[in-house]
Amino acid sequence: MPKKIPMRMCVGCREMKPKKELLRVVRTPEDEILIDFTGKRSGRGAYVCPEENCLQKAVKQRQLDRALERTISNEVIQNLSRQIAYSRPKEETPRE
Ligand SMILES: [Zn+2]
Repeated sequence: MPKKIPMRMCVGCREMKPKKELLRVVRTPEDEILIDFTGKRSGRGAYVCPEENCLQKAVKQRQLDRALERTISNEVIQNLSRQIAYSRPKEETPRE
């Protein structure tokens, strides 16, 4: 029996995808907006494909703002897109 795969919708392309293939953007209780690589942070979350395109779409259509109930600043978006770039390729995550 195949296991049920949890699906989530990308706020950019609005496609349903397995949760594992998406990045979770979270607004922490401290009101920080970041990418939750563990998937375990508490706070309001939104899912987006690990694609710059989807992030930009989500931003332009204000889907990310809506999902997180915050206006997302350019600075935060740049941060997120940097984190998305770092998340690929998956085998070799640069460390600072
Ligand atoms: Zn997407």
